[in-house]
Amino acid sequence: MNEYDEKNVFNKILRKEIICSKVDEDNNNLSFEDISKQAPVHVLTIPKKKYKDFSAFAENASDGELSSFLKSIFKVANKKGINKTGYRIIINCGSDSNQEVQHLHAHILGGKNLGPILK
Ligand code: AMP
Repeated sequence: MNEYDEKNVFNKILRKEIICSKVDEDNNNLSFEDISKQAPVHVLTIPKKKYKDFSAFAENASDGELSSFLKSIFKVANKKGINKTGYRIIINCGSDSNQEVQHLHAHILGGKNLGPILK
């Protein structure tokens, strides 16, 4: 089930109703700077198609969409120069994760030692 809320902020970015600071774009995905950085590098990668979360994406996306999402994340890490120093990818999915925006997004974080994953 993929009940998608059209009013979510990332859908507004995709419709160009809200501006973003673009890092990368291809046919399937858009990557842009997080508005509230948690690390020196903090970029979000989203699929252009409407998936409310990772589960909806994993269940419904084509193999091409799935692989291009990972390739886009890797491209961001290269563009931002964090592929050698290391980086963390976080995908919040659903209520226990505190996912705020109901459109699948991967956080790509780096540029400093990020410490333990959870305290
Ligand atoms: P999550 O808690 O995983 O849903 O993360 C949502 C992320 O979206 C947060 O890190 C926010 O800072 C970020 N965010 C919310 N609105 C915007 C926006 N207009 N442009 C860029 N990032 C945003």
